[in-house]
Amino acid sequence: MTDDLTLTPRGAPIRSTHVPELRKYAAGDEIDSWCTKCKLMLNHRIVAMKGGVPAKVDCQTCKTTHMFRARPPGEKAEKAPKVATGMSGSSRAPRATTAEKALAAERERTRTWEKSIAGKSLSDFRSYRTTEHFGDGELLRHSKFGDGVVLRIIDSNKIEVLFQDDSRILAHAPA
Ligand SMILES: [Zn+2]
Repeated sequence: MTDDLTLTPRGAPIRSTHVPELRKYAAGDEIDSWCTKCKLMLNHRIVAMKGGVPAKVDCQTCKTTHMFRARPPGEKAEKAPKVATGMSGSSRAPRATTAEKALAAERERTRTWEKSIAGKSLSDFRSYRTTEHFGDGELLRHSKFGDGVVLRIIDSNKIEVLFQDDSRILAHAPA
């Protein structure tokens, strides 16, 4: 056995021929994360990686360093199917408890969303960035949540955006 020290620049992976399906992140990359301070899904910069996934991130809005969270708190639990048994083949999992009201609200939301994006072309949607200003009723495309329409301007830094599955408060820049 000989010591074969292959120097790689900053420990960068040599294998670049095989592109993994999942996007690989590295420290320094930008990523959408839940900001524990802003209480918003915002653009963050990865500070530290752990086991191939982002561990610590820097909020680009409030400059706070905190743990990486791929989604707002509670959202994961909400989407986890609580009803283990039931009819197979139902594409829409029924809400366990707040049945009809929630369902009606959801239908209404979906209808509004569909109406807003109906007949629109790709070019009508602007890529969502926290650094850009969005106006009332404007269409945007979020890297994680998909197509959305601005429901209202909360203030110069926040907008409420309706996505297909839910409405969310997002950050935006003052005009
Ligand atoms: Zn923040």
